[in-house]
Amino acid sequence: MHELAVTEAILDIVLQAAQRESARRVVSVSLVIGELSDLKQEWIQRYFDHLARGTQAEGALITVISSITQFVCNGCGAEFSQSLRKVDRVACPSCLSNTCRLIGGMDYRVENVEIEV
Ligand SMILES: [Zn+2]
Repeated sequence: MHELAVTEAILDIVLQAAQRESARRVVSVSLVIGELSDLKQEWIQRYFDHLARGTQAEGALITVISSITQFVCNGCGAEFSQSLRKVDRVACPSCLSNTCRLIGGMDYRVENVEIEV
């Protein structure tokens, strides 16, 4: 399962942050996940609950913010963001070219870790 490996990596980051701040416990973790990613919040929370047992992050709530997709235009090289949930066709805002390359939207990152000290 894809989510399991990702959740292990997330827990690592969270526990490092908790240690740095001498946290008594981790209250919540905010993740930013690209809209094209197939990571599901429900599964991340489920794996997190399991993996974090016995650590400071036990019982922390996972929240997910979806980020829109980034492109680079093959015509003029401009970088721009567009939500693929909102448009059918991607066009460069500078030169209106339709040949664009995807450069982000499948990634994830830990945005914020809320702790109690
Ligand atoms: Zn362009």
